Parts: sequence; C-alpha cells; structure tokens
Amino acid sequence: MPDLSKYTKSLSEHFFNADNIVLISHINPDGDAIGAQLALYHFLKSKGKNACMISPNNLQEFLKWMEGSDLIHVFIRQRDKCKSLIEKAGLIVMLDFNQPDRLGEMETLVTGSGTTKIIIDHHLNPKGFADMEISDPTFCSTAELVHELITAIDGKPFYSKPYCEAIYVGIITDTGNFEHGPYTSRTFRIVADLLDTGIEKARILNLVYNNFSENRLRLQGFALNERMVVLPEYQTAYIWLTKADLTDYNYVKGDTEGFVNLPLSIKGIVFSAFFVEKDGFVKLSFRSTGKFPSNEFASEYFSGGGHINASGGECRDSLENSISYFLKVLKENFSRLNGNK
Ligand code: 5GP
Ligand code: MN
Repeated sequence: MPDLSKYTKSLSEHFFNADNIVLISHINPDGDAIGAQLALYHFLKSKGKNACMISPNNLQEFLKWMEGSDLIHVFIRQRDKCKSLIEKAGLIVMLDFNQPDRLGEMETLVTGSGTTKIIIDHHLNPKGFADMEISDPTFCSTAELVHELITAIDGKPFYSKPYCEAIYVGIITDTGNFEHGPYTSRTFRIVADLLDTGIEKARILNLVYNNFSENRLRLQGFALNERMVVLPEYQTAYIWLTKADLTDYNYVKGDTEGFVNLPLSIKGIVFSAFFVEKDGFVKLSFRSTGKFPSNEFASEYFSGGGHINASGGECRDSLENSISYFLKVLKENFSRLNGNK
C-alpha cells in the first residue's frame, strides 16, 4: 500500500483547525466523486466540523438515493449560495480531480480564492493548483484513498452506514464493479470490512446499476447495432452518436455512461472510442485494456487525458471530421502506442 503517512499529520491539522470546510466534486460527478465527497462529509460531521458540499452541476439519478446527496449544493442552480459558501470557507477540499477545468463554471471562483486548498484524487498528472495535493493513481478510486486517509488520521477506520455506503459506491463505480482499474487485494479487504458493517450489497448494486430508463436501454441497443464500427486490424472499435440520435431517444444526462466500455467485450479489441456530437465540438471517451495507453492517445490528439485505461478528450470540429481525424491518427499511431514498434 502506498505510504500516506507524509500527509496524515498535516491533513489532520487542516481538517481540525479549519472552520467551514467546503468539499467540492468535479463536473458531471460520477459515483466516485460523490462517494468520496459524501464519505468525507459524514466523517467531518461526526467530528463536529462545519462542512458543506458543492457540485459544479447536477447529480445523476443513480446517485440521488445516497444519504446526504440532497445536501450537495449544485453550483449552476445555486450560484449565490455557493459563492457565499466559498467566500466563507476556511478550507476547500477538492475530490476526484486534479485539473482546474473540472470545476466547470466554478473554476475562477475556486482557483481565485485565497483559502487553503487540498486535492484528494487518483488521476495522473496533477496540475498543481492546490496548496496540498494528495494525488495517487495507484488507488482504484478517490473513495478508497479517502478511506485510507481517514483511517490513518483517526487511527482506526470510521464506520457509519452512510459513510460505508459512500465508500462502497465510489469503489464499485470506479472499478466497474471490480472489472477494471488498479484495485488490489487491499481494496477487497476494505470492501470486506465495509460489508461486515452490514451495508446491503444487493440493494446498493440495484440502486446503482438497475436505475435506467427504457429509453436509455434502447439507445444502447441502437448505438451497438447502428453506430458501432469494428476495426479488427487495429484491435479497435468505436461508437458515434449524433445530437439527433440523442433527441430521438429522449436523452437525459448520464444515459450514455458506460457505452464506451461495451466494445471491449469483443474478443481481440483492446481500444474503444465513443464520440458524442455536442454544440460546436465532439466529446470523446476512450477505454483500453492492458498496456494500450488510451490517455496518451487522448492527450496527444484530442486535448485530453485521464488514466491509462480510461480517458477522454474533445475535437473542435464536426462529428464527421472528428471521426476521420480519429481514424487517421489511429492508423498512424496504433502500432507505436500498442508497443509493437
Ligand atoms: P469518461 O469517459 O468517463 O467521461 O472519462 C474517463 C476519464 O477520462 C475521467 O475520469 C477523466 O480522468 C478523463 N477525461 C475525460 N474527459 C477528459 C478531458 O476532456 N480532459 C482530460 N484531461 N481528461 C478527461
Ligand atoms: Mn475516481
């Protein structure tokens, strides 16, 4: 396990000396961002601290059952309230991101604040915009890292029901229920301890994974049937959706979550890309298996980044041109990135 002792003392001092601790998750928060945010919130509240939570934008439905999620202020809906919380903050803790643009419309407000800022995260390449950065990509999830930090600070694990559920949700959603990412035997030991506290695994899995609309499932069927292209010679497959496709299926935010993973279940496919047409640009998600560095592909060609096996980027062009450009750079660089040259 990575050595966290270098952070423990200072982190503990920050937590216990600060009044008004503001916990911030990233834009389009996923289960790990919200899980880590809620877990730290429940821990700090149990210690009598005055803490509050902000998300740059709305939470997806599959996270709204989590205890405390209704207390998360949504910046784009409550700008004045969030501004005042940040202005009054004695400490800002950012969870599950290490690049300022992940703050969305809150970016300048947060980066411009003179308050001490801490990042707790597990992505690569931190941008260095906080006073303290605990950013370790060997953790499968920020939730796992938060749990280890709290255990180190307190000298023992903290177990309350909402806390345990939040850590569990962070771990399962960032590993695809233990399918990908750097989870370890240590992760399973943490999860075993969480389950021993009595949290209801089947109920939580049902709330997280069986919460889709009929439209979403039909959109997935359409995407696989009509919009997936497989390139066996490059061990790659991609899926593309237009704005009109999304409208046809009454798209709501989060509906395409996970689509990018689907082509990886085809035998021999090691790299998957997912294109979604937006206003004036195309958003891309990448996934890979094994050593194919999807994040290098994203950063070299699509102004993006992320983890080796899960990354994303964008292309400021039409969908058609974005796909052509993708095919061009894929063909030119697949062998090199896949370690064959
Ligand atoms: P997703 O495909 O789930 O949206 O993103 C997967 C991961 O890729 C995220 O956790 C994040 O690390 C990274 N990522 C996605 N989009 C971008 C982007 O536009 N820029 C950067 N730097 N990273 C991204
Ligand atoms: Mn995460």
